[in-house]
Amino acid sequence: VATEEAATEEGGQLVMPTNAEFPPYEYREGDQIVGIDADIAAAIAEELGMELVIEDMQFDSIIAAVQSGKADIGVAGMTVTEDRLVTVNFSDPYTQAAQVIIVKTDSEIATPDALAGKTIGFQLGTTGDLYAEDIEDATIERYNKGFEAVQALTQGKVDAVIIDREPAKVFVEQNEGLKVVDEEFTVEDYAICIAKENTELLEKINTALATLQESGKLDEIKAKYINAE
Ligand code: GLN
Repeated sequence: VATEEAATEEGGQLVMPTNAEFPPYEYREGDQIVGIDADIAAAIAEELGMELVIEDMQFDSIIAAVQSGKADIGVAGMTVTEDRLVTVNFSDPYTQAAQVIIVKTDSEIATPDALAGKTIGFQLGTTGDLYAEDIEDATIERYNKGFEAVQALTQGKVDAVIIDREPAKVFVEQNEGLKVVDEEFTVEDYAICIAKENTELLEKINTALATLQESGKLDEIKAKYINAE
């Protein structure tokens, strides 16, 4: 178990909780957890001279793990939100993301407004879930995993799924008969969450991110996992 002390010391462990069901940001390849976030965290750990330890858990357990000091940096395609900022700090954003709508290929839903009155699937505890209330007369179905929401769509149990853009693209590629609606639902930022009191680590992470941005390493990592269109 890494303590906060260990994490802020040179050469200590940098414990990163994530949820490895969110391709291309984090997913399993054999017994390895790979993806954009895993690579970025590895590059940060290298900058800080620390050993990266990735821990796979439920998405909605990550903030508690960081807040309690059991883990150091939550890196999980995590969107910066007002609610989360009450309990944890966020690093500078490392990527711009979006929530998008997945529908069946023959669906007439072509804009976010067209979701009114529909049955919509979300992944429990994610930002997509947060927007559920904003959709008029919608029936909301919550699923533990993103891909379970997508399965429900394939089976006709929901009319649409709202989920992050890059995972959406992967899910649509892996499942026949689905498409991503062109118009995005929202635009948002992903950042790394860190315990409120761990301001020293926050600064180090931001410095490392800036270095990786300048050197082109961040873009290189993203390009490795996301095909340019
Ligand atoms: N970006 C979304 C959020 O922060 C989903 C992240 C995830 O499922 N890994 O809630």
